[in-house]
Amino acid sequence: MTTPLTGRSAAEISRLVAPWVDRPFRTRQVALWVLQRNARSFGEMTDLPKELRSRLAEHFTLAEPRILDIVRSSDGSRKYLLELDDGTTVESVAMPEDQKLTLCLSSQSGCAVGCTFCVTGALGAGRNLSSWEIAGQYRLMIRDMATAPDRVNIVFMGMGEPLLNLENLELALESLFETVSPKRVTVSTSGVIPGIRWLAGLPRRPKLAVSLNAPDQVRREEIMPIAGKYPLAELMDALRAFPLERGRRITFEYVMIRGFNDRVEDATTLVRLLGGLPSKVNVIPLNEDAVHLPGLLRPDAGTVDRFAERIRRAGLVVTVRRSRGNDVAAACGQLKGRHQGRTNATDHCRPDLSPSRR
Ligand code: SF4
Repeated sequence: MTTPLTGRSAAEISRLVAPWVDRPFRTRQVALWVLQRNARSFGEMTDLPKELRSRLAEHFTLAEPRILDIVRSSDGSRKYLLELDDGTTVESVAMPEDQKLTLCLSSQSGCAVGCTFCVTGALGAGRNLSSWEIAGQYRLMIRDMATAPDRVNIVFMGMGEPLLNLENLELALESLFETVSPKRVTVSTSGVIPGIRWLAGLPRRPKLAVSLNAPDQVRREEIMPIAGKYPLAELMDALRAFPLERGRRITFEYVMIRGFNDRVEDATTLVRLLGGLPSKVNVIPLNEDAVHLPGLLRPDAGTVDRFAERIRRAGLVVTVRRSRGNDVAAACGQLKGRHQGRTNATDHCRPDLSPSRR
């Protein structure tokens, strides 16, 4: 059986290949090819002896997900539908902006958390992705987008709850941190308190984002069942205890749903809730999806602006997420949902929908 070298740190790659190399420095060469040069095959490692390349190929792989479909948006975003070895599919998105490229990675192939405003949640639970399946999304997107790692930001806001896949997330982060600084990696959670505490204990921490979506426990639990297990008050306690590096803030994502959580009074309650925490609020007008999220509507632009303005006037940093990739079904789960619909020949006339999620 062959072992993937992808999704591992340089130290781990060196440790694995050490028994097979002729000289010790070769282990660093292999790690460099895998991590810095993003090699797809051992044949590319031209400064290694040919027999060594063959020997490595017998024992290891440079495994990555397989691209099934790429949908290109007029704004430059690309959405990838990827297939894993067992036929499972996941999505990733690349969003260029100015000189930067933001890559949105999936950590699970579905999601059992079941937030009512999320297409992935509507598609149901999946399995945990391995570290190479997670890091492989980054590898193939920077190659496809022809982008250097120092221009990349990574957000774990694709399919799945990353803090319910800790073991693989940790390995994937260690691998990603070899080329992308932790301050340019964000892990977004629906509020899994044990996972937040775990993240707090990592020696090198990514940035933290929390999918909040309601300013009080009752409404949060209504749209995010996980809030029943991890109540808002306990979540806020865990966040207040989270160690923040100098200049860092916790990002709070707030999906705005018409008539549910979009009043100026809701913004006032939210400001009170976040009082004293270095925070940034990311307001995300809902991506409507008549099939998977029937009855949920996006507020009008004026309502969104008034909500954001109330937060801004309280002195908090607030952004309204500009829709990216509207024409490519960029919200998490939407391309997979569409693909499944197409495969089952039941739903292929459904219109493409706009992005965002947590
Ligand atoms: S928003 Fe995130 S945690 Fe909630 S169902 Fe969707 S993928 Fe899962």
